[in-house]
Amino acid sequence: MRSGIGYDIHRLVSGRKLILGGVDIPFEKGLLGHSDADVLIHALCDALLGAAALGDIGIHFPDTDMAYRGISSMVLLDKTAQLLESGGFSVVNVDVTILAQAPKLSPFRKAMQENIAGMLHLAADCVNVKATTTEGLGAIGNGEGIAAMCVAMINQRDEKQETLS
Ligand code: MG
Repeated sequence: MRSGIGYDIHRLVSGRKLILGGVDIPFEKGLLGHSDADVLIHALCDALLGAAALGDIGIHFPDTDMAYRGISSMVLLDKTAQLLESGGFSVVNVDVTILAQAPKLSPFRKAMQENIAGMLHLAADCVNVKATTTEGLGAIGNGEGIAAMCVAMINQRDEKQETLS
């Protein structure tokens, strides 16, 4: 078993869609970024890559690469899952916390969890998404941005043990 941690933050601006966990959330602002700026999925990709010791999202999907401009981060999650699969890893569970002062995200939790579980081929009870405000404190509390942190547990297939058993 191996664990990984991920963190990301993006700035909230006018004129952008707010996409979190692959869900288009109605809000007056959206997150700024090279891709769709899905901060939740970026933290998740980093946790998965971290657990597998495969670096980070910036190494695999650089924001200088025009191929990733405006791309759905769910595509990046799919590619990350493929990297883990080819490295002999399977995902056990993931847990995400979104840090946002607004909007209220609880109505969208289930859809986010289903999107992630679907992309990672996980049972619904192996994916948890939760959200918290920062009680009005700091840049997130001021509504300047949204952050996300994630922990992932993965399993490495042990070829030697498989042969012995
Ligand atoms: Mg990011």
